[in-house]
Amino acid sequence: MLEDVCKVYGEGVVAVRDMNLVIPDGEFVVFVGPSGCGKSTALRMIAGLEVITSGRVHIGEQVVNDLPPRDRDIAMVFQNYALYPHMNVRENMGFALKLKKEDKEEINRRVEEAANILGIQSFLDRKPKALSGGQRQRVALGRAIVREPKAFLMDEPLSNLDAKLRVNMRTEISKLHNRLGTTTIYVTHDQTEAMTMADRIVVLKDGEVQQVADPQTMYEHPVNVFVAGFIGSPAMNFLRAHLQRDKESESGYAAVFGEGARETRIPLPERTLSEHPEVGEYADRGVILGVRPEHMEDESVTNGHRSNCSGSSLEVEPEVIESMGSEKYVYFSLGEDQIAHSKTLDAMVSADAGDAGEGNNGSGGSGRSVEEPGGDSSSFAGAAGSFGEMMVARIAAESGARKGGSLRLRMEADKVRLFDPQTERAIG
Ligand code: ADP
Repeated sequence: MLEDVCKVYGEGVVAVRDMNLVIPDGEFVVFVGPSGCGKSTALRMIAGLEVITSGRVHIGEQVVNDLPPRDRDIAMVFQNYALYPHMNVRENMGFALKLKKEDKEEINRRVEEAANILGIQSFLDRKPKALSGGQRQRVALGRAIVREPKAFLMDEPLSNLDAKLRVNMRTEISKLHNRLGTTTIYVTHDQTEAMTMADRIVVLKDGEVQQVADPQTMYEHPVNVFVAGFIGSPAMNFLRAHLQRDKESESGYAAVFGEGARETRIPLPERTLSEHPEVGEYADRGVILGVRPEHMEDESVTNGHRSNCSGSSLEVEPEVIESMGSEKYVYFSLGEDQIAHSKTLDAMVSADAGDAGEGNNGSGGSGRSVEEPGGDSSSFAGAAGSFGEMMVARIAAESGARKGGSLRLRMEADKVRLFDPQTERAIG
């Protein structure tokens, strides 16, 4: 449990601010956020590798603030594996137990059991340099497993692996967690890893927790523009819209964007207003409208199957079409004045550009780096600035949309999200 935990480095760099979190036994929690948001610092404070400036960290019944890492009964797994180069795999895996003066036979038993689980029995006598990245990370996991700790703390453990291996290892770590049931805190910048592995996700930004929720809730009900833009790939599109009274809409309100012939009205469903009466307070005011790429479809292929909700259509001119086989990504612009700019998201985009070499948030931006091995760097959606200037829709593979042609997209009205343009908090 974390209680008001803060970390201030040197001259007032607040890396983590007032973090509160209760992690039940056995849970798989993922800390996710862009580079520099404080996720590693938070993990390192739990591990005891970083002094806590204020607040308390409890492990079980015990406050561990002043306990050295070795006495916290946790095992870390790092991005760079941190294996001892002069020891073979067996020695690496058993080293912590040897330090604890465990019996030799017991060490061997546990090492072999972990090696079996991880499928590395045949490498036990090799040195780390004779192993591939994936094998080394398995050894690092094995070293953590043999300790049978209260918790695993993993800091970007898959970031050094190529995209395909990352997907495999992701599944392996999830399987491992199902089998061992050990509480795990996993740090990543990759929202796809967070979505696929976590029981609960903790989204951080600038040292502050933005939202703690299970993956589906995080996707369906992001609390603010930042979370909405960070979780999901390709990222949610944001538009400047107005909330207007609309007699024809079930709820009496519609979100409207664009002008004249290009005006699009999205009637809000009854449910939106009955569940979130505060939406009414935004009547005749500007809002940020968020629509996920997968909630738009080529109207000519919907044939009713995706249009069972009331929605609106929008005519666009595709500028780039990416065929993914199972679906198509269509990119189009809507005029600068219609795109909602968000301070938080613009900051994230520029950070992404700076970190391009690291592939940072490759899947926050596109998701393809992980879903589709080798797809990240070439993905248009992965390019910094893809949200902001360009909108993207994920449409059916059978769509006949053509670059430079005309495409009518249908938006699912009950899936759009509204945000306050000043606070960027979700409305309702
Ligand atoms: P993340 O893991 O999310 O990328 P970190 O926890 O590493 O972020 O860093 C959070 C913030 O704290 C960043 O602004 C970073 O520059 C700063 N920071 C991290 N480590 C140190 C340090 N040892 N000294 C000073 N500032 C640090």
